[in-house]
Amino acid sequence: MPEGDTIYRLARRMQPLVGTVVESSDFRVPRFATADLSGARVLSLVPRGKHMLTRFDHDGRAVTLHTHLEMDGEWSIVGHGKLLPRRLMGDARLVLATSGPTAIGLRLPVVELLPTEAEHTVVGHLGPDLLDDTRPAPEVIAEATANLEAQPDRPLVSALLDQRLVLGLGNVWVNELAFLRGHLPFTPVGRVEVEPLIRLAVRAMRFAVRPGGPGRVTTGNTRPGERYYVYGRTGEPCRRCGTKLQFSPEIPNEPGVRHTWWCPRCQT
Ligand SMILES: [Zn+2]
Repeated sequence: MPEGDTIYRLARRMQPLVGTVVESSDFRVPRFATADLSGARVLSLVPRGKHMLTRFDHDGRAVTLHTHLEMDGEWSIVGHGKLLPRRLMGDARLVLATSGPTAIGLRLPVVELLPTEAEHTVVGHLGPDLLDDTRPAPEVIAEATANLEAQPDRPLVSALLDQRLVLGLGNVWVNELAFLRGHLPFTPVGRVEVEPLIRLAVRAMRFAVRPGGPGRVTTGNTRPGERYYVYGRTGEPCRRCGTKLQFSPEIPNEPGVRHTWWCPRCQT
């Protein structure tokens, strides 16, 4: 599933759209079936967690296209005037043909247009974005830390996944961060040193989005199956101490928590 670093990389891949003019738009969602962005100029692409805000100047009106990737949505960028093979186009929710590339949104659960000044109604509830490069990192870290510390009773992984508190961490990151900081995943936030954990998250995620870099990796080893310490490694030995890793499918009363892995020896 997409995490903040995935969306950040996606926004970078979509940058060639900025400055182009929409030649035709095809909204394949009922609510905006008649919407038409023809003639609109793409001003910017702003990733916010798993949300993408694409801002346009449409005949002097500031319009934002809001999309969300949820679990398996994606954007495909193809050459001018091109489309994807027919078997893939069935998944298209939006086709934006521009004076530059064509952008095709596939399986997007959220596709909507709104005035740019109303963006807060769709992303205003979100916490600070750990990959927001328009703000100083210390400010982002301080805000995220304060948000998390205000929820001392929440299990750590659950709070870290709560996009209202901090934005950009998905299940891979929260499992790996709990391991790297030596915390059991369900430790209450109040018993965790939050600030160093968030600082580490920012450093690791910024590394993951470095152009030409290795992508998401926490072990430093980019060989297949070696990238993570605990994520996805049910029953396998801990890379540090050899103890069999534990796995939990969910937490009662915490529907936001997904599959969780940890080392019972390294994490306390
Ligand atoms: Zn271990």
